[in-house]
Amino acid sequence: MQSFWEEACSLYETEEDFIQLLYKLKWPEGFRCPDCGHKHAYLIGTRRLPLYQCSACDTQTSLIAGTVMQGSRTPLRLWFQAISLHTRPEGVNAVQLSQAIKVTYKTAWLICHKIRHAMQRQNCHEMLTGLIRITDAKLFPRTTGSSAWHEQEQSVFVAASADEAGQIERIKIKKQNKHVLKNCYESPKVEPFISEVVDPNLAEKVTVSRHYFGGKRDYVLLNIAQKAQNALARTFRGVSPKHLQVYLDQFCYVFNRVNRPLLQELRMACSSGPCITYPALIGATAATRYRFRKRKTMAWREAS
Ligand SMILES: [Zn+2]
Repeated sequence: MQSFWEEACSLYETEEDFIQLLYKLKWPEGFRCPDCGHKHAYLIGTRRLPLYQCSACDTQTSLIAGTVMQGSRTPLRLWFQAISLHTRPEGVNAVQLSQAIKVTYKTAWLICHKIRHAMQRQNCHEMLTGLIRITDAKLFPRTTGSSAWHEQEQSVFVAASADEAGQIERIKIKKQNKHVLKNCYESPKVEPFISEVVDPNLAEKVTVSRHYFGGKRDYVLLNIAQKAQNALARTFRGVSPKHLQVYLDQFCYVFNRVNRPLLQELRMACSSGPCITYPALIGATAATRYRFRKRKTMAWREAS
């Protein structure tokens, strides 16, 4: 794992190098004020990370604002190390990451999820086009004969765009709501899934196969579902239904970038867009969010 990181970051050594890297990723054409769009700012360099004050409207912007690192006290070097480890074909789990970058499990868990959500956000913008194949599938199916859903079993749709020779170019896997189905042999409605993942203007043909009850099974897509299931089981030792979709999006994100600059794309995805917060990740209620904010404010006061 260490050699992977060294190879990915051979050009960068110090925290200052990563500050420069993030600046280039966040503002590739130079500074832009988030409030007024002005191009010039004063640098306030007395903090751990530079702060920029717009010379037109005086708005202050942190380098990590609007990135996955927003609000984090973890050094940028460790963040970029975590990002590069997420490009490994086998992925990285929170325990492995906490050992690799020497942070607590909770910090590693949060970093992993924030990076995964950056992948998910980018995935949402990439619709399938051209010749599209779709199948339903079950993840973590049981071998017993009962038709009742088991807690671990999950219903998903797998879709792929393929070239004329049938070569898969891009995939999407979406968890379906199994609780609206009568039993584990019933397949969910495919139309909502199609409208969610297929670009109607650029789709040439959509072929739907059903896993159960007749019809021709699409073994190529079922094999992809099997690979996703194996990856989740191997690296993450199983995933809770609550977080399953974001792990599936991570699998699709890496799968779809076999012939693309994966590390560069992931660094860019992590350097822009909204950042998911810890309360949002754990699905906290309004009362819990208030307590969390209050605790954070008190901790900040004690520290300052
Ligand atoms: Zn401004």
